[in-house]
Amino acid sequence: MRRQKISQLLSSGTAGQAITICGWVRSRRESKNFAFVVLNDGSCQDTMQCVVDAGTAAFDMLAKCQTGAAIRVEGVLKESQGKGQKWEVQALAIEVFGEADPETYPLQKKGHTLEFLRDIAHLRPRTNTFGAVFRMRSALAWHVHDFFQRRGFRWVHTPIITSSDCEGAGEMFTVTSMDLAKVKAGPGGAVDFSQDFFKKHAHLTVSGQLEGEFMAMGLGDIYTFGPTFRAENSNTTRHLSEFWMIEPEMAFATLQDDMALAEDFLKHLFAAAVRDCRPELEFLEKQYQTIKIDDLARLSETKFAHVTYTDAVAELKKAPVKFEFPVEWGIDLQSEHERYLTDVIFKGPVIVTDYPKKIKAFYMKQNPDGKTVAAMDVLAPRIGEIIGGSQREDRLDVLEARMREMNLPVEEMGWYLDLRRYGSCPHAGFGLGFERLVQYVSGMGNIRDVIPCPRAPGLISH
Ligand code: ATP
Ligand code: MG
Repeated sequence: MRRQKISQLLSSGTAGQAITICGWVRSRRESKNFAFVVLNDGSCQDTMQCVVDAGTAAFDMLAKCQTGAAIRVEGVLKESQGKGQKWEVQALAIEVFGEADPETYPLQKKGHTLEFLRDIAHLRPRTNTFGAVFRMRSALAWHVHDFFQRRGFRWVHTPIITSSDCEGAGEMFTVTSMDLAKVKAGPGGAVDFSQDFFKKHAHLTVSGQLEGEFMAMGLGDIYTFGPTFRAENSNTTRHLSEFWMIEPEMAFATLQDDMALAEDFLKHLFAAAVRDCRPELEFLEKQYQTIKIDDLARLSETKFAHVTYTDAVAELKKAPVKFEFPVEWGIDLQSEHERYLTDVIFKGPVIVTDYPKKIKAFYMKQNPDGKTVAAMDVLAPRIGEIIGGSQREDRLDVLEARMREMNLPVEEMGWYLDLRRYGSCPHAGFGLGFERLVQYVSGMGNIRDVIPCPRAPGLISH
């Protein structure tokens, strides 16, 4: 079935051209002499209005062209007399593939709440909002690859099932093939994973970083872009249990290089969204008023602010507001603190560096002060942390001592220490939650609205 996409016709159609389009009916208006059927085919934000004259075979099909029905229209492209669109289709023939019973089809009217649509995640891609979000998600994913590939970073595929459980990045899901009704207890009553498929306790990955590091130690600059799982019980608007993470890792690089990469990367993506997703952004800007295209464009050209954790804490302590969680040097910044930094103090994205080592992962490079590590988080207005990264500890003795101090399984992690034992070098990287990025750029308030099938505590409906 040859069809033309509405996006194609709108950008390069010519008057009088014979066309075939397929799509889902958004609305139908009938009068005695003619009818309008408005179609969307998912190729773009815009719809195509089809004019159906009374007395034609196409007119006889109208009863079956309910809102939501899938149809094919053959006709002729012509310049529209109406306001708001340049082109319309004079329909000559209509074929109905699948009707949509108006009594039961849930997307009868416009203006459903996002909560309502979340319950029908399988139908929401047909709405303006989710069409916009998912087209933008695709474009951003493409630009993630484009950014790294152009700079000579190699895309590496790190494992989804892993046995290392010391990333410290979050609670993990267990992967098992054991019959849970017959699980045998090992010594001390704990589950005996030596009976399991892998003969040890396996998990879904919480980060590809550690494996990314060993790939970078041979390929130089790499990035991962894959599914990531966290079983933390956080029912927030910025956490998912299954999300996609992008983790570049650079050999021969310091924290400075890492921050420069993070900033270039985000700006590249903001600029790409403004350039390639304008109709989507215009729709979202108007509909929800949480983003401004001009702000995104400006951000893609403005230098990010930088502040050390120690200075950020001093600023927060001076702030004339009462935080729910009091600020003290050594605390992990809560989202209220992050938001105060981005929205009130710096009025834009800010990179916070040199966090206390106590609140950061074991692999981060210790600073000479003995108290902080060469870490950086990029905080963005509205959503807080969007990127977390660091220079990695490349000194074997310092890393091993830190692991022992934190009771991590040094023997099992021999492979990770090997990277410091043989050809160790300064290296750095970061992790960006892809959905946080899409959320930030699209302005969607809830991260569950930027992934087709959101997973969160108690939520796995599709
Ligand atoms: P947060 O403090 O926001 O929970 P984190 O410090 O646990 O995040 P990292 O381990 O640094 O996160 O992960 C790197 C990036 O992955 C984060 O900056 C964020 O963009 C993203 N991320 C982390 N956890 C989640 C989650 N549960 N859902 C979606 N994205 C996440
Ligand atoms: Mg983090």
